[in-house]
Amino acid sequence: MASNYFSFKILSRDKKTKAKTGVINTPHGKINTPAFVPVGTAATIKSLTPEEIKNCGIEVFIVNTYHMIFRPGVETVKKGDGLHGFMNWKFPLMTDSGGFQAFSLGEYGPRNVSDKSENMVKITDQGIEFKSAWDGKKIFFGPHESILAQHKLGADLIMAFDECTFYPIKKSYAKRAMQRTHDWAKTCLQVKKQLNNKQTLYGIIQGSVFEDLRRNSANFFAGKPFEGFAVGSVANSREPRKKVFQVLDWTLPILLPVNKPIHFLGIGEVEDIFIAIEKGIDSFDCVIPTRLARMGWIFTKSAGLKNKFRFDITKSRYHSLKSPPDRSCRCYTCTNFTKSYLNHLFRCRELLGYRLATIHNLYFYANLMSQIRTAIENGEFLKLKQEWLKV
Ligand SMILES: [Zn+2]
Repeated sequence: MASNYFSFKILSRDKKTKAKTGVINTPHGKINTPAFVPVGTAATIKSLTPEEIKNCGIEVFIVNTYHMIFRPGVETVKKGDGLHGFMNWKFPLMTDSGGFQAFSLGEYGPRNVSDKSENMVKITDQGIEFKSAWDGKKIFFGPHESILAQHKLGADLIMAFDECTFYPIKKSYAKRAMQRTHDWAKTCLQVKKQLNNKQTLYGIIQGSVFEDLRRNSANFFAGKPFEGFAVGSVANSREPRKKVFQVLDWTLPILLPVNKPIHFLGIGEVEDIFIAIEKGIDSFDCVIPTRLARMGWIFTKSAGLKNKFRFDITKSRYHSLKSPPDRSCRCYTCTNFTKSYLNHLFRCRELLGYRLATIHNLYFYANLMSQIRTAIENGEFLKLKQEWLKV
């Protein structure tokens, strides 16, 4: 699907791995890849202004369609000139299909998918029926509804509607969900074509933890005119860690030769980022840096792998420490405040604490991505990975 509003150009490739750098061009500017995509669930990265988000080095973030449907409603956002105008964010944006939240936030909460569980959130070949997590109102949402809602929201990069499955799962159900996802994907392409807008549609590969299903799904999407791919239903859905990355080993050899951007849904731990990039992933989204910031977790390289590169600023040992939260960081928080002050803000539940921790964590992630891109360009990706992960 050639277009003049979207392009993906690969700029450099690592010789020893599948890691690569590139640039995604959108109507609202460029995204350098590999890119970390923070989550702005309810049309905000909690507590930050657009200027602050941009100053952290963030080039794109993802808003959840499901949340927008209920509050404030997609029509309200449309009247506010789409998400870009509504939020006053002038740079690239991504929305998800709404499917994942419909499954996980429907009245009955996260479910274990089995053949019997369909009555909890009702799934038909047309779409899904679920109850609002806020007022219990019954909602029907299918591929048509998802693309129309995302059209009104107006993000640059949008996702095809998929059936998101949870783990553990029977293979027979995973197969059925995958087939539905493929049928829905075709509808999404048709609806998108009719709308003829400047949005870029990513198809979502499903198939749970089953190799033949994942390969089948990757082959299906590789042959369709989607402009990008996303690997779905892995990281968010409690699959064993080993299987999460096996899914990439099964699908990426099929997807990579197509030379379209590949997004990994729900990945965000530092170690996982290195592994995903090494295997050929271009972007990933995750709530980790922002959600954990609000709980007092400060990311830092020196906290090492064991602590997953973060420490808890609310601990009493930081009560009087005058050093910056992260000595090697040049963000607004670290160049202006001490561990002692952040500890105080969190202990008093002061709003500034959440803001300062979020600013630091986003800067940390954006800076890590920048380091990774430079390392790939210089042929030093594995060296950087070794330096961080000590493996
Ligand atoms: Zn910092």
